[in-house]
Amino acid sequence: MGIKKINIGKNLLAENDKIAEENFLLLKEKRILSFNLMGSPGAGKTKILERTIPYIKKKFGCGVIEGDIAGTFDSKRLEKFKIPIVQINTGGVCHLDAFMIKKGIEKLPLDEIKILFVENVGNLVCPAEFKIGIEKNIVVSSITEGEDKSVKYPLIFKISDVCLINKTDLLKFLKTDIKKIERNILTINKNLKIIKISAETGENVSAWINYIFSEYRKYNLG
Ligand code: MG
Ligand code: ZN
Repeated sequence: MGIKKINIGKNLLAENDKIAEENFLLLKEKRILSFNLMGSPGAGKTKILERTIPYIKKKFGCGVIEGDIAGTFDSKRLEKFKIPIVQINTGGVCHLDAFMIKKGIEKLPLDEIKILFVENVGNLVCPAEFKIGIEKNIVVSSITEGEDKSVKYPLIFKISDVCLINKTDLLKFLKTDIKKIERNILTINKNLKIIKISAETGENVSAWINYIFSEYRKYNLG
């Protein structure tokens, strides 16, 4: 008997990419600008959304897809904003994939949404490996994670459009060298836009909000 080899990994990724492209085109057709927030557990992704959504809500309809291995803690934190939220529990899988996003998008009132945030599962590795069809990749890296994350986990920094360096309010308590964090990030991806914020105090969050609005204008011209 001959040996039959099935390359599951490759086929699954090809299927994933195909669905990611469909997600991308659907959001484009609906003129919804989407942001994929990635980062370690505890980097502050949900906190950033809590800071961001009130500004967006004033101008545009927005929605959120929350990805977690289990639980609805993050969705509950965002419930107060009375915006459409879809919680995806991956059941052990440590990233969102294109099919999960497709299911999430199907549950959202797309005609009421202009900005969509996806909060990926907290993880610096495979969220970067799975295309999901979201326009902008945002990596959240907090100063409590040290100076070397970009060097240790380069892919997520390579594929991102923006790095939000979060928790700058803690700089005064730590020996972390934020200049070194920035230098390291830029050696991995010299085009990565870095915005330093504190989602806790709101410091410089306006720069992030301005980025969202200016990208939204560009997106709708294109
Ligand atoms: Mg979270
Ligand atoms: Zn994973």
